[in-house]
Amino acid sequence: MRVGMGYDVHRLVEGLPLWLGGVMIPYNAGLQGHSDGDVILHAIADALLGAVGESDIGSHFPDDDPTYEGVASASLLARVRDIVSERGFAVNNVDAVLLAERPKIAPYVDAMRRRISEILRIGPGDVSIKATTNEGLGFTGRGEGMAAYAVASVIPVP
Ligand code: MG
Repeated sequence: MRVGMGYDVHRLVEGLPLWLGGVMIPYNAGLQGHSDGDVILHAIADALLGAVGESDIGSHFPDDDPTYEGVASASLLARVRDIVSERGFAVNNVDAVLLAERPKIAPYVDAMRRRISEILRIGPGDVSIKATTNEGLGFTGRGEGMAAYAVASVIPVP
């Protein structure tokens, strides 16, 4: 088994759609990015790439490449799943933590787990999504952005 970790941050901007864990969440602000800014999917993608020694999403999907302008992060994560399999591994499990002061994401966690498990072709029970506030501290606490951490494990395909 191999393990990787990922971390991502995006700025929160009023009026943008909020995509988290592959699910659009009703809110008055969304994450700004070259893609849809989905910090959870980006952290998971980086964790998976790390697990198979394939650097990070910035090197695979450069943010100065117009191909990826406004792209759904779900499609980037699907490509990462293929990279994992091209390297001879299968995704075993992923665990992510979102740092966000609001909105409450508990009502959307099951939908995120289902969506991520579809993209990665693993069971919903192999996907864990958690969230915490930052107790009002720092940039996430002030609502200026959101951050996510993720860990992923992969197993060699015989
Ligand atoms: Mg990102």
